[in-house]
Amino acid sequence: MTIAQRLNQISQQLPSHVRLIAVTKQVSVSQIRAAYESGIRNFAESRLQEAISKQEQLNDLPDICWHFIGHLQANKAQKAILHFDWIHSVDSIKIVQRLNRLAAESSLSPKVCLQVKIVSDPNKYGWTEEELYTYLSELENCKNLRIKGLMTILPLGLSKKEMLATFKKVKSLAEKITKQSNLELKQLSMGMSEDYPLAVQAGATMIRLGKIIFRERD
Ligand SMILES: *Cc1c(COP(=O)(O)O)cnc(C)c1O
Repeated sequence: MTIAQRLNQISQQLPSHVRLIAVTKQVSVSQIRAAYESGIRNFAESRLQEAISKQEQLNDLPDICWHFIGHLQANKAQKAILHFDWIHSVDSIKIVQRLNRLAAESSLSPKVCLQVKIVSDPNKYGWTEEELYTYLSELENCKNLRIKGLMTILPLGLSKKEMLATFKKVKSLAEKITKQSNLELKQLSMGMSEDYPLAVQAGATMIRLGKIIFRERD
């Protein structure tokens, strides 16, 4: 199957409110163009340098919406807000405050998601539910960021039932915070090639698909 055929097959099964984001890390510019020609306008990268180099080669396509999904180091925060429309992987109060300050200095208001981990794991990036509540008032005060929702990456080794339950927990966490604060966490960035149907079932609004679009399978 071609990229166009795979994209068609996936899109046909998606509810219209779900935004399909093509994850193009390690994907060539010509494959990105093929996805663009099939109608995709949302693309995601996880490494800044790789992304910027591809963006330069694609600057004849002005209507691409770029999403950053990798762990963001403090010293790359400025570049991230200049080169991306969305940052999904905002994973600590330190990076929130830095982005907020840099956004003010550049008169930008980037759209961001807070990356959460429902299963606590010190080796994984992301906020636990408890940390989100601890910093809620600081988050509410970040007037230069448009904090749009939550993002999650599931830990490996969950059963389908556990995957669905975890996605649903992310959704209910977003709803709880929206009720209890001035944040409006309407966006749920969750679901990758292996688990996106369950994420959609649980209420994902943005799915991030790489392999299933770009990798040939036998
Ligand atoms: C690579 C990546 C994806 C896409 O994963 P696939 O399994 O290739 O669909 C989605 N989200 C993040 C954060 C990633 O790093």
